[in-house]
Amino acid sequence: MATERTLSIIKPDATARNITGKIVDKLESAGLRVVAQKRVKWSQADAEAFYAVHKERPFFNDLVAFMTSGPIVLQVLEGEDAVAKNREVMGATNPADAAEGTIRKAFAENIERNSVHGSDSSENAEKEIAMCFKADEIVG
Ligand code: UDP
Repeated sequence: MATERTLSIIKPDATARNITGKIVDKLESAGLRVVAQKRVKWSQADAEAFYAVHKERPFFNDLVAFMTSGPIVLQVLEGEDAVAKNREVMGATNPADAAEGTIRKAFAENIERNSVHGSDSSENAEKEIAMCFKADEIVG
């Protein structure tokens, strides 16, 4: 295991319910450090670019509409094995399948409105961090 970084997003369903702090608490309790954070509202072009990998999927248009429906919190998380650790604390995409103690089990509303995003590989983490943050916005 090595120290690495991953991109996390607190999604609009969670900002709407004012539970960003509860989510950060679970991330920090899992050993992840927030080394960059900003609250933004994505345009349609921002969301389409970020989720371009999903553009052929049936849920793409709804996902873009959801992710542009309100503020989101972009974060860079740092820690040992951060990509896998964040995926573990997030829980399964569908909250019905998410393990006890995970963010999605505790907070997600459904498979779309599932409170958090986390990079799914080290390679994608690097790409997603570069899409969302300038180097000098990340302070480890
Ligand atoms: N999503 C959805 N319906 C689906 C699958 C995914 O609305 O059937 C949304 C959901 O918000 C999910 C995102 O699309 O988090 C990206 O999907 P992915 O399969 O990459 O899941 P994740 O990596 O976020 O667990």
